Amino acid sequence: MLLATDLDGTFLAGSAEDRLRLYQLINSHPDIHLIYVTGRGRESVLPLLSDPTLPMPDYVICDVGATIVDGPNQQPLQPLQSQIDLTWPGDQAVLEALGALDEGVERQDVPQERRCSFYCTFDAISDRFREAVEALGCDLLYSANRYLDVLPRGVNKGSTLKRLVELLDIDPEDVFVAGDTLNDLSLFEQGFKGVCVGRSERPLLEATANNTRVLHASREGCGGVLEAIEHFGFLGVQGMQQHAQPAIEPGRSELLIVYHRLPYEEVIEKGEIKRRRPSSPNGIIPTLMSFFDDGRTGSWVAWSVNDPKRGPFEEYTQVDGGRYPNLTVSRVPLTKQEVDTFYRSFSKEAFWPLLHTFWERTRFREDHWQVFLRVNRSFAERVARDAAHGATVWLHDYNLWMVPAVLRELRPDLKIAFFHHTYFPSADVFNVVPWRRQIIASLLQCDYVGFHIPRQVENFVDVVRGTVPMRALEETSAAPRFLTYGCAVGLDRYTTCIEAGNRVVRMGAHPVGLDVGRIERILRREDIRRRMEELRRELEGTRVLLSVERLDYTKGTLEKLLAFEKLLEAHPELQGGVSLVTICVPAAREMSIYRTLQTQIEQVVGRINGRFSRVGWMPVQFFFRAVPFEELIAYYAMTDVMWITPLRDGLNLVSKEFITVQGLTDGGGVLVLSEFAGAAAELKGAILTNPHDPDDLVQACYLGLNMGGAEARARLRQLFDVVQYYDNQRWAEEFLSAVDMPMPNADVAETRQAS
Ligand code: UDP
Repeated sequence: MLLATDLDGTFLAGSAEDRLRLYQLINSHPDIHLIYVTGRGRESVLPLLSDPTLPMPDYVICDVGATIVDGPNQQPLQPLQSQIDLTWPGDQAVLEALGALDEGVERQDVPQERRCSFYCTFDAISDRFREAVEALGCDLLYSANRYLDVLPRGVNKGSTLKRLVELLDIDPEDVFVAGDTLNDLSLFEQGFKGVCVGRSERPLLEATANNTRVLHASREGCGGVLEAIEHFGFLGVQGMQQHAQPAIEPGRSELLIVYHRLPYEEVIEKGEIKRRRPSSPNGIIPTLMSFFDDGRTGSWVAWSVNDPKRGPFEEYTQVDGGRYPNLTVSRVPLTKQEVDTFYRSFSKEAFWPLLHTFWERTRFREDHWQVFLRVNRSFAERVARDAAHGATVWLHDYNLWMVPAVLRELRPDLKIAFFHHTYFPSADVFNVVPWRRQIIASLLQCDYVGFHIPRQVENFVDVVRGTVPMRALEETSAAPRFLTYGCAVGLDRYTTCIEAGNRVVRMGAHPVGLDVGRIERILRREDIRRRMEELRRELEGTRVLLSVERLDYTKGTLEKLLAFEKLLEAHPELQGGVSLVTICVPAAREMSIYRTLQTQIEQVVGRINGRFSRVGWMPVQFFFRAVPFEELIAYYAMTDVMWITPLRDGLNLVSKEFITVQGLTDGGGVLVLSEFAGAAAELKGAILTNPHDPDDLVQACYLGLNMGGAEARARLRQLFDVVQYYDNQRWAEEFLSAVDMPMPNADVAETRQAS
């Protein structure tokens, strides 16, 4: 069967169940070929071709028959396209011949090719207009009580479909057409079997009333198409049933956290696998776990390496069964190679640099993308099995970008929320990624998409706007919570609800917070107090500039070291009195992309120390290793100026940790922070610096070192207020309640229902 279907009102309409059933049938049945036949221009069809919920058509006939392209690669189908082109005089010739437009006739402001499209009432079409079209050798087509098209002579949906059927040498008896408005009439005039779906335009129903090969279906959209497939017996009853996808039985989980890491660490003790709470430095895992404190039934879905040498793979395990009796850890098995590709190399080489605006460092590989898709599908299938009806699924970070696409199809009932833990760039950068349409189409299957700060939300909207037709439904002011014009990642207003591709998606800014209580507990520990005293003695007489970060080109470590060298040159009085303590956590050995950076950093550190060191004073104390979180706390307490200079950062937790430690110990340390870190938009009171400007880096650091005690303390109080109030618990609660919030207004809710 070749299904040639109109889109709006037909293939894109009908109840959610009918649409899903028809799309799944087409995807799974080997004998169904699909052609979209639409009045839309080619560009307006593109978003549908990357919509993961829609089947990919073999061909697309657009512009009411004037354009015909291949579905998967969107190239014109020759020789048919050339034949049509020969009969089109050209847009300018047509517009010139039509002259000044009559009153009530207006050019349509939508993509169109090889036709000129207008809005008007039927009565507004003057004889002069008709005569001009006739003289041009073109056709006129009026439909849906508002669209007027000037088309190449003899070109319409039906004639182009007929030519295609002949070109493909398909038996006309196997062709089945579907439509709902008068501009579909030509489809029904070629002798094919067809269906006018429920609520078709009356003139179309009248014009096809005596056509015995056309069914007037009762159900709308896809429902009508399904009704007609059965009516004409195209696939036989068995054909339809065999290829109907078995419905997935909902699981039990009400809340599903889908995270790249398990909520426990596995250690092997005496040959046995033991699971224990993670020693992870940041508090996100415990925060997310706290949602299950009240006995809520849920799943934590994460990958785990399936190593047959370790025995059979356990798909479901528990974590702390006493405390979380209803929480299941749902493990998605991945091979070691899949983990290496999906998680380590691909994500780090393709998406990490892109997201942080270092697009020239990206390396895209189609074979790696295929692994990424496969792994994301496994996650989605697992969530689809575990989730209860109407459950909330909270997906974390870009490694899982393609999960919503698969999940929405498997489980339309779920509430899907996504949080980005990294930066998110604007379209100028994001559009470099070869699979941008698929990624955005997948994210638009979510109900809610969260980011750290308003700028990242708006960048996402910027990308969406260039990918699919969208309408902003709600805007929110960034102030007073966030900086507006005060930093490079500030913004005054941002979009928090959009309608795109028949769906309504809400968005929000939620900067991750800290577990302040945990830091408080660490500070009370006897061993940490001793360590602090030790450090105090060791650092006696030296003012401490502290820098803490992972080895990564996004962190601006090299730029900071060069600035420190300049600072010592420009202010010789600082020599002997200030040390830059740098804790830089090396990347995993297999991440070769970081090797050059490490060598460069080591060279600069060597040079500075070689130039300026004196007996008893080392300008740069460089630790190329991870320091346990507890020890880091001791360093934060000893610090005079915390110098954090990422060239780009999603948020930056280190800055918040420093503020917390200083706030809790009544310290007077100063935070000098890059205005390109997400945290800059939130942390009012920090000295902001532009790490792309070498002079500014030096000046801001100098300002920090010379700030008076009273000002430093006042700024710290302001900063600590923010960090203490917006802690990790508030972050998670605010996020989940935003996910649960109703749509902004009734209109929107209706649109959503209708879709
Ligand atoms: N960290 C640590 N030991 C180190 C260096 C860093 O435990 O030697 C922790 C630090 O306390 C912070 C996290 O690693 O919680 C880094 O988070 P951040 O948001 O600053 O940067 P990211 O690495 O996520 O880009």
